[in-house]
Formats: sequence, C-alpha cells, structure tokens
Amino acid sequence: MNISENITQLKQKIPSHVTLVAVSKTKPVAELMEAYNAGQRVFGENKIQEMEEKWQEMPKDVQWHMIGHVQRNKVKYMAPFVSLIHAVESERLLKEINKQAKKHERVIDCLLQIKIAEEDTKFGMDTADALALLTSETLKNFTNIRVVGLMGMATFTEDEAQLTREFQQLKSFYDAHKERYGFHTLSMGMSGDYKIAIANGSTMIRVGSAIFGDRIY
Ligand SMILES: *Cc1c(COP(=O)(O)O)cnc(C)c1O
Repeated sequence: MNISENITQLKQKIPSHVTLVAVSKTKPVAELMEAYNAGQRVFGENKIQEMEEKWQEMPKDVQWHMIGHVQRNKVKYMAPFVSLIHAVESERLLKEINKQAKKHERVIDCLLQIKIAEEDTKFGMDTADALALLTSETLKNFTNIRVVGLMGMATFTEDEAQLTREFQQLKSFYDAHKERYGFHTLSMGMSGDYKIAIANGSTMIRVGSAIFGDRIY
C-alpha cells in the first residue's frame, strides 16, 4: 500500500466540504505517520486503549475521533484528548462523557449514531429515540458536551440502490433537524460506499482499508 499516495488521491476526489477521517484501527504508528506526513490530521479508532496509546506517540496536532461503540467505564481514558465521538446511542453515555469532559474543563463534540441499515444490526438509535434524546430537558444540563450531528453505517452490500436509500434516509432526518439543533456534521461513508454517501449529503467520511489496506485481526 502506498499510504501517502492513497491520501493524496482521496483528497483530490472528495469535495472540500467533506472531512476525511483516516480509520487507522489495528495499524501501527509507523503507518499512521505516513498518512500524517502526507498531511492527514484526523484519525479514527474504535478501541479506546489503542487510541490512547497512539495519541501518546503521535504529534499533538492530530485530531482523534472515536468511531466505535463506547463503554461508559472507558470514557475517562479518552476524555482528555478525544475531539469527536461518533457513535453515541444513549443519554447515559452522554451523561458520562459530560462528567468526564467537565473534569478536564473541556467541551466534547458528539454525534448520535442512527440505525439506517436495512440489515439487522444492534447499533444505532431509531429516529424516534434520537429525537426524544435531543429534546430532553436533561440534555440542556450537559454543558460539557455538544451534539453536533449524526452518524450512520449502511448495510454491507454492493447494491447501490439500497445504499442510496439508506443514506438518503439519514440525510433527510439530518436536514429536518439540522437548524433546530445546530448540526454541522453528517458522518456517513466508508471505503466501499463513500462516493454514494457523498452524493447523498455526507460531510464526513470514515475511510480505512482504501488508505491503509486490508486489516488483519
Ligand atoms: C472500521 C470502520 C470504518 C472503516 O472501514 P473501511 O471499510 O476499512 O473503510 C468506518 N467506520 C466504522 C464505524 C468502522 O468501524
């Protein structure tokens, strides 16, 4: 894999209003540094401990995004430095993020993960639950978090019509509530479907294998 060439080519392909998150989970720091040296500053990880270790080793101008499922008891480890948490699914988790952010005198940006895949998945809130959370009185007391948008993961399929349907569904929910809640980020699209996601309104794509190659677990 030519990581720096992949970064350069991707950046040429995507519109300037779309943020590229380089998903570096399982990859060694040396490979992240190749991306860094090609100008990449936003990295996404899905395990808190791995992200924390990389944060300690990498230059301090990297922005770290937590893109995976978050356990409440681990929030404290990323609260000092995480810049965006993509997959928030409950008020209890927001409460913990708020509490830990306060300890570090920070305000942490979060996205609510919405379930859009037609395939069965345990991740993501349905839109009714998301709205209930956004309008809840409790949320107003969480002064150290900001819900700045939404995140979604489409079905793992090559069926473009289905992907379009799923992304459009999230985009229309996003548009309907964007102004009221001050959203500015719609995180959708990965290596296999980012083009369709961008065509359907994504402002942030999370790309791993198309930059770093396949992951070996
Ligand atoms: C791993 C991961 C990605 C990146 O997947 P690729 O197909 O390698 O681009 C994006 N989003 C989430 C939530 C992930 O866990």
